[in-house]
Amino acid sequence: MDSTIHEQYDLERLRAIPIVGVAQRLGLQVWRAGVIHKALCPWHADHHPSLGLVTGTDKNFCYCYTCGKGGSTIDLAKQVGGWSFQDACQWLSATFGISTTTVRGYVPQLRTRPVAVVQEPAMSYIPTGMVDELVTVENSLCQCLMQMFHPKSVEWICEEYRLGAYTMWGFDNCTVFPNIDWQWRVCNLKVQHYETDTESSRFGHSQKNQCYMLASIWKKSGKLPPNGCYEAKCLFGEHLLLRYPDMVIALVESPKNAIYGALAFPKMLWVATGNKSMLQRRYLEPLRSRDVIVIPDADAVQDWTNLISRMRDIANFTVSDFCLRHAPEGQPKFDIADYVQQQRQ
Ligand SMILES: [Zn+2]
Repeated sequence: MDSTIHEQYDLERLRAIPIVGVAQRLGLQVWRAGVIHKALCPWHADHHPSLGLVTGTDKNFCYCYTCGKGGSTIDLAKQVGGWSFQDACQWLSATFGISTTTVRGYVPQLRTRPVAVVQEPAMSYIPTGMVDELVTVENSLCQCLMQMFHPKSVEWICEEYRLGAYTMWGFDNCTVFPNIDWQWRVCNLKVQHYETDTESSRFGHSQKNQCYMLASIWKKSGKLPPNGCYEAKCLFGEHLLLRYPDMVIALVESPKNAIYGALAFPKMLWVATGNKSMLQRRYLEPLRSRDVIVIPDADAVQDWTNLISRMRDIANFTVSDFCLRHAPEGQPKFDIADYVQQQRQ
């Protein structure tokens, strides 16, 4: 095998991308069959799904029970895409957001049109290009952060989390928080208008704060198909989980807090639920087997402790009362962003 490919791509990580997700992104129809998943075998003319997609601790491969072929995520991509080894690696890196030294933005094209995935028939996703167009530090959150942190750091975090700016309610610097899942699919874009509270001069605490989901606006304006179902949900920052497989994760509620945390405590990978209703098994599944420090706002420690206690089998969760311990008198909603602002004053 070409040694340069080893230098360009982290093959170990490409082979560790969950193979069910790889099969789905390659356009294969996937059926659940007990503990494994099945698909039509791309190595032979298969009419009944005979390709097993096997995942588990240290296991992540496919195997055809009829023709005996199969292999890793790279082998599967090569076969379905009709690609060289190199193109298969490039497609996996680009599709799952795993950094590579090759030209950014180059994605080998699939040979066949992807067919709908059986498990999520009705879900629609926003094309990634529409997010890329919005990414800029010219939003009120990044501008505020630039007064506290080095502009290069803010630019980096903005780029990583794909923060953008959008004009709404007459304000041209509303902050866009995209929800991108671990498969790099854009579920939705939250637009948030922030103002600094005139009494406490705390950024983002004004009563006038409003938020809106861009998919519904774009459906009305015809920018997205009007019959699209943009109801998929994921954690904020979920797309970074595969990119940083060894980082300890800090889990907070609001995306704004994740951004403050990422700048102030960059040794952890900051991920946000968006709201408390996301503290459910199916949404926390992408955190599987990771070390996760859960950091609720001051008034939510008890609630979050109870909810997390039922999901300890998913990940190594530790609930921290950091915000509660640092909350000044009379600030029950004290959060990480408040703490960072307090420290930087
Ligand atoms: Zn086969």
